[in-house]
Amino acid sequence: MRTLTKDIGTKEGETVELFGWVDTRRDHGKLIFIDLRDMTGIVQVVFTPGDKELHAEAERLRPEWVVKITGSVARRPKGMENEKVANGLHEVTATVLQVITEAKTPPFDLGGDGREINEEVRMKYRYLDLRRPRMRNNLRMRANVNAFIREFLGSRGFTEIETPYISKSTPEGARDYLVPSRVYPGKFYALPQSPQQYKQLLMVAGLERYFQIVRCFRDEDTRGDRQPEFTQLDIEMSFTNQDEVMGLVEELMTQLVKKLYPEKHLSQTPFPRMSYKEAMERYNSDKPDIRKDKNDPNELAFLFVVDFPAFEWKETEKRWDAVHHPFTQPRVKDVEDFKAQFKNNPGAILADQYDLVLNGYEIAGGSIRIHNPALLQEVFEAMGNKHEEVLAKFGHMLEAFEYGVPPHGGIAPGLDRLMSILQNEPNIREVIAFPKTGDGRDLMMDAPSEVSEAQLKELHLKTEKNNGTKGI
Ligand code: ASP
Repeated sequence: MRTLTKDIGTKEGETVELFGWVDTRRDHGKLIFIDLRDMTGIVQVVFTPGDKELHAEAERLRPEWVVKITGSVARRPKGMENEKVANGLHEVTATVLQVITEAKTPPFDLGGDGREINEEVRMKYRYLDLRRPRMRNNLRMRANVNAFIREFLGSRGFTEIETPYISKSTPEGARDYLVPSRVYPGKFYALPQSPQQYKQLLMVAGLERYFQIVRCFRDEDTRGDRQPEFTQLDIEMSFTNQDEVMGLVEELMTQLVKKLYPEKHLSQTPFPRMSYKEAMERYNSDKPDIRKDKNDPNELAFLFVVDFPAFEWKETEKRWDAVHHPFTQPRVKDVEDFKAQFKNNPGAILADQYDLVLNGYEIAGGSIRIHNPALLQEVFEAMGNKHEEVLAKFGHMLEAFEYGVPPHGGIAPGLDRLMSILQNEPNIREVIAFPKTGDGRDLMMDAPSEVSEAQLKELHLKTEKNNGTKGI
């Protein structure tokens, strides 16, 4: 039966079977030592010269070979112990060695934290890069955070619900990724920029408390540390208000940090709240970094920014657009009041919108939603959509709201950014198993890539031939 390296300390005097990778090999004259690595850690294995065949086989071992080793667990000789590392008091004296697979020399060192290695090479060989303890730890902690979230929200009556990935465009202000339909020539699905409409429709459905750890897709030009697909913790609640949504997220973050990151401290509790106006005036930013000591990697400065303007002028499109998204409730009494205020000064209308900022990054955005279909229609039209366009694009929402819609609102923390801050990582690619480059390529899979003529034909698509310059 297999023993994991983490359990070696409890097996003194016993014979164990170990499976894993050769992490390092050291020849000390007659003795050969290897560090054997499995998913739980490392153990030192020693090959003595007594068994010549075994010793000769051990001499062949190279880093990253996959092996099975049978041996007996013993205390290390006096003076050879190392209190500082796991299994530092024990070693396994090998009696049988089986090489399961050999390995080429990896293209880069897997031992260190890897930050000095060219990132493109790390991404091309991501399956090797993920072997380093730092990366493995990032993924483990991410899984722990997900598990914590599920437990936290589950125990508060939230239902985790999956929503479709191939769907219809939902407006979050970015370009959609489109998926051509084979069955309906000339028609396309869009990958959701967020499950915004579905989660609101789940409120109409009476679920009242929804969450989902969900992928969102936005086809944006490279801007800093973004990914074409990223993960949100998407939350929606009925019969709620701004304070309740913010309070829930504050409690979630506080307890998460306390349980999983006890070495970190929150600079201020309750999380301070600042109006958008004040943030812009004092910090010239809607995501101010209010850490007391910016050199302290363990300081977490959460801040809610509230009282956002509902609309901003889009000069390129010559129209007013929603600052958050069009479903956000503007602070107006009713449709007439909205019309009057919008006519008078659109930029002065505030919204029930809130962002959660952490150490200068926007890590969540949310709002109370418009649940009056007439107001929603009016807002869409104010943003430059024609009456018929609104019906074509959002008729399903307007119709749904005719069937008894509860007041509702929600928020969506971005988990990649949150994880990168919690793990003290400089960019979100370090906390994503298979990230894309800044310009949207998957170097390991070589995506995007060309597809066959037959595939295009089936999808009723023609592409302009690539003439050797960038793009098609
Ligand atoms: N759908 C919004 C977003 O992706 C979040 C929300 O309003 O709940 O930013």
